[in-house]
Amino acid sequence: MHTPATTTLAPTRREFTVPPDRDTIITIDGPAGTGKSTVARELAARIGLDFLDTGAMYRAAAAIVIDFDIDREDIDAIVAKVASADLHFDWAIDPPTILAWDEPIDHRIRDADVTAIVSPIAGIGKLREHMVRKQRIIANQHPRLVSEGRDQGSVVFPDADVKFFLDADPAVRAGRRAEQLRAEGKNPDERKLLADIIDRDHSDSTREDGPLICPDDAVVIDTSDLSCDEVVQRLEDEVRARIEL
Ligand code: C5P
Repeated sequence: MHTPATTTLAPTRREFTVPPDRDTIITIDGPAGTGKSTVARELAARIGLDFLDTGAMYRAAAAIVIDFDIDREDIDAIVAKVASADLHFDWAIDPPTILAWDEPIDHRIRDADVTAIVSPIAGIGKLREHMVRKQRIIANQHPRLVSEGRDQGSVVFPDADVKFFLDADPAVRAGRRAEQLRAEGKNPDERKLLADIIDRDHSDSTREDGPLICPDDAVVIDTSDLSCDEVVQRLEDEVRARIEL
């Protein structure tokens, strides 16, 4: 008998969650616009881990520098002010929102002026030391974690259980960002977005402290031609293979 295509079932996948008694750190690094945040958050939800967006911490630092009009050359003043903010996350919200002086700051951290200076601010060695310390404290409190950023596998969690490095063609990344902005009702200039992404890649990769590098033991995934769902599935399969050993 002919079976209509609409009734064809996709093969069912066995649900996988990391066993509750197993502490697990998974790192996801890569340049801007590779979809890291979205897939990291989705992966964490699927396999039962918490999700840490370390870019939000550097963005919050950049927002503080602008909003308190701190001299960008005055490194001690920057580090002191950011330290006084005691950046931390509200884990009761999904995704966790970042707080400075116990007040949410997430509404501010993706503004264009913040994005424009975040990479050089994140290049301040003393500030990175502060952030790395904080991220390790967070991991102590949340030992089942998917942590996403630029240096999570290389510097912050060199002994992570699984390390991923996501990459994608810069034009694809600019196109994705443009789509996000259009969905927010904005009218982005895609050429400018591409130029900004190339600039930020260059600045993130060439700075002396905490440059974006791909750890030797990372699983590298080019997301240019993959949907978000396909990337998450690849990550999940890889984690399952490592953890079920
Ligand atoms: O991931 P996102 O684009 O929000 O990160 C913003 C900036 O924060 C990056 O361009 C990078 O300069 C910095 N960053 C970093 N190390 C991290 C996460 C982000 O230097 N672990």
